[in-house]
Amino acid sequence: MLRENIPGPLKGFLDKLVGWARSYSLWPVHLVTGCCSPEFMQVAGPRYDMERYGILPMPSARYCDVLMIVGVLSRKMAKRVKMIYEQMPEPKFVMSVGVCPTNKGPFYDSYAVVRADEIVPVDVYVPGCPPRPEAIIHGFMVLREKVKKMGL
Ligand code: SF4
Repeated sequence: MLRENIPGPLKGFLDKLVGWARSYSLWPVHLVTGCCSPEFMQVAGPRYDMERYGILPMPSARYCDVLMIVGVLSRKMAKRVKMIYEQMPEPKFVMSVGVCPTNKGPFYDSYAVVRADEIVPVDVYVPGCPPRPEAIIHGFMVLREKVKKMGL
């Protein structure tokens, strides 16, 4: 059914319902490209327990709606990241975790390192080198608010 065919009040309700449901089932691709990876493990572990927010890392890109680029992104790896992004179904979101994928961090003058937003559109940037697990959780909360507003 096309969104335009849904009556006004029902459309608003469905927008809220779909946004709410989607925001509580963010499934990131389990992809780490640099030394921020232990922080991602921390977030997935029992202490920070990201599953309590409905965030569930998955091994297959075809099930996932969040691509987390965790750590330094080399030019060689960037092609694989783009391929994984293209395999993900719509709607999909990208989170850049750490200063390296955001602005190259300590590798700012390296020819071999690229920014995440040179390869894929980034929705949320998580600062830090490496970011604390709380910062990654906060990044998900920011993304969740964005997803909630998307609606149908
Ligand atoms: S942001 Fe810091 S910890 Fe993360 S990949 Fe870059 S250098 Fe490593």
